[in-house]
Parts: sequence; C-alpha cells; structure tokens
Amino acid sequence: MNKREGKVLIAGGGPAGASLAIRLAAAGRDVVLIERDRFPRHKLCGEFISPECFGHFADLGVLEPMLSAGGERITETLFFPLSGRTVRIPGRAFGEPALGLSRSAMDAILLDRARAVGVEVIEGAAIASATAEQGELRAVDVRTTDGTREIAADIFIDATGRGKALVKAFQRTQGNASERPARRSNGFVAFKAHLREAELAAGRCEIHFFPGGYGGINRVEGGAVNHCFLVRSEAVKSVGGRVEDVLEKLVYANASARNALISSKAEMDWMAVSFEGFGRSELSYGERLFTVGDAASFIDPFTGSGMLMAIESSAVLAESLAAAGNARQVYAELYAKRFRRRLFICSLLRNAAFRTRAATFVSVALGGLPFAAEALARLTRPQTSAAR
Ligand SMILES: Cc1cc2nc3c(=O)[nH]c(=O)nc-3n(C[C@H](O)[C@H](O)[C@H](O)COP(=O)(O)OP(=O)(O)OC[C@H]3O[C@@H](n4cnc5c(N)ncnc54)[C@H](O)[C@@H]3O)c2cc1C
Repeated sequence: MNKREGKVLIAGGGPAGASLAIRLAAAGRDVVLIERDRFPRHKLCGEFISPECFGHFADLGVLEPMLSAGGERITETLFFPLSGRTVRIPGRAFGEPALGLSRSAMDAILLDRARAVGVEVIEGAAIASATAEQGELRAVDVRTTDGTREIAADIFIDATGRGKALVKAFQRTQGNASERPARRSNGFVAFKAHLREAELAAGRCEIHFFPGGYGGINRVEGGAVNHCFLVRSEAVKSVGGRVEDVLEKLVYANASARNALISSKAEMDWMAVSFEGFGRSELSYGERLFTVGDAASFIDPFTGSGMLMAIESSAVLAESLAAAGNARQVYAELYAKRFRRRLFICSLLRNAAFRTRAATFVSVALGGLPFAAEALARLTRPQTSAAR
C-alpha cells in the first residue's frame, strides 16, 4: 500500500490538528483525531485572531461560523512600553480588522467541522505510549475513561502543542527520554482570565510591557475582556507566585495596564501554564511522524500570530503529504520558505520585548514613525495573502 493513501492519526485537536484533519479528510484521506480534552474548553491564549486566518477559515469552511460567533473586530493594537512612546498599529496594516474570539468558541467550531467532513474525532483521549518498529512509529496507545486502546496508522501527526506528547511517546520507544534538557530557570509562566469591568475602548487590543514580561487585553464574545500575559519564571518567583501579586507588583508597574485593569474582576479562575522557550523544533521523526503548529515552532505571542502559524503550517503539511517525492523533504523545504524569516524577526524582537531599556528604545524609534512600525509588524506575518 502507498502509505500516503493510508490512515492518518492526528494527536491534538487545537487549530493545527483540527485544521489539518479537515484538509486531509476533504482530500479523501482516512483521518482519526485524538484530543485529550472535551470541547468546548477554555485554553490559555491571547484570543487575538489575526486577519490572515480568515482566508484559511474560508478554505476550511468555517469563516461564517467564526465571524458570527459574537467576537469583537479589532481595529487597532496599541503597544505600551514601561517608559517611552505608545506604538499604534492600525488594523489596516494587515488589510482588515482582526477578531477577538475565545479559544473555547474557535476550537469547538474547527473540531465540529472536522467531524462534519468525516474525521473520526475521539475526545477525552490522551496519547499514553507508542509502538515503533525499525525506528518508525507504528501505533499509539490512547487512554480514555473506558481504558486504553491501541490505534495503528500509516502517518502520525503531533499537533499536541508545545508539550509534544506524541514525539515524547515516540522518543521513549527509542530509549530517548526527551529532546532537550529542561532549562527551568530560563522559563516563562503565562496566565489568562476573562474579565468584567476592564477599561478598554471598543475595537482595541492593548499590549502592556512590564518588568519580566508582557501581556495583552482585547474583547471576546459576550463583552468579556481576555487578559493574557507571560512573565519570566524567576520574576514570578520573586513576587511569591500568586497571580494577585504578579498583577500588583509586576503587571501594574505599567501605568496603562493599571488604569485599564485595576477595577476589573475575573469571571473565571485564572489559568496558568509554564513553558521553556520559543522557536523551532524538529518537523519529522523518521518517515511516518510529523509535527505541526506549536509542536513544530512556537512563535512569540506578542505577534498575535501563533494560531495563524498553526493553521498555515497545517496547509503546508497537507500539501507536503500530497506532493510527489519525499514528504519529509518537501515539508522541510516548504516550511523553511514560509516561516524562516518570520521566526528570525520574532527572535530579534523578543530581545526588546523582555528588556525594558530595549523596549523603550524601540518604542521611541517607532512611536514617531508609524509607517516603520506597520512595516515591522508586517514582517512577523506572511508576505502575501497567497500564503495559504
Ligand atoms: C501566553 C500566550 C498567548 C498567546 N496569544 C495568542 C494570540 O493572541 N493570538 C495567536 O494567534 N496566538 C497566540 N498564542 C499562540 C497560540 O496559542 C498557539 O500558537 C496555538 O494555540 C497553537 O495551536 P496548536 O494547535 O499547535 O496547539 P494547541 O492550541 O496547544 O492545541 C494542542 C491540543 O492538543 C491537545 N493535547 C495535548 N496533549 C495531548 C495528548 N497527550 N493527547 C491528546 N491531545 C493532547 C490539547 O488538549 C490541545 O487541544 C499565545 C500563546 C501563549 C502561550
């Protein structure tokens, strides 16, 4: 059997996994998707959907439900450094306004669509372990409340996000516990909650830089303001670790953040996750296991384009799996062409984002040059709308 015509198992039902499942099923492939959670569920994210996603949503058959789910169109993003000048990026820099919509709504729309186009979706099912032969992944054990079940496939996709659960399960079969040793001291902690009574102008996204991190606010459906921020782990530790202390002692050091948020109340429990860093990972392991979305590369959140990269990388992988020639090689080439520059620019901007003096310098330079600010923002996105 030609393995490209065989069964595909996708682990993870976030934007990368669900969109890839839709693309492959629409192309006639037999696809099973394993998702650890049950949707709808909250997900830690800035919930800023960049407008370049809309073309992909149209291709995936979900544009109308996304735009009518009650989210807010975002017409401007304002960057507030600790000191220096406010930098404003109008929505027109990217062609049209972005969308503030909860991940709970967005991810459920994509997963429902996957089901509708024939994907077998198994929710509440986590990858537990894997079986490999001659260095190639052959099957996974999936844990559900009913017990553990083995699923064999011809192609496997790790779309489990930064945790890379499937890659780790595969590496355990090879006697390799993890790709890289954890660097806990350099890590980050991210927090998110939906708020009531925040001070935020309609159609606006605000990004606030503060000692050790930055965060963003924008409105989502139902009028709630999503507040999501990330901080260096050592800064969180230095103020005692409670979210209230992180807000008071770090986030509110930025006067604009304080003004916007001081009277707000969280309408859900704060979510928190820790992670090690940003950047590229491996795109494939042998001939049968591929990564996509955050499992392939994690782009810095202040660009508001992680979900775009997740959905765009699924288009690149779907194209690579359908192409003549070696899928691994095609994927590596197309991926580098599409994303290398973007990831490089973001790695440069990251240095400014986490250094108060550098952020001040960049803001002073860009605050007086609105066209330069827009041009720089565009470098973190696809060069043309043909990116899908
Ligand atoms: C603080 C922060 C703010 C961000 N803000 C934005 C923003 O405003 N805009 C933007 O575009 N991007 C943003 N991002 C980036 C964005 O969240 C990610 O790029 C995007 O979620 C990646 O999608 P994905 O499908 O690759 O992974 P995920 O969305 O992480 O999805 C992975 C899925 O896999 C499932 N899973 C995990 N382990 C297993 C397992 N063992 N078995 C089965 N399933 C499993 C999970 O439940 C999850 O549903 C932000 C990221 C962070 C950290």
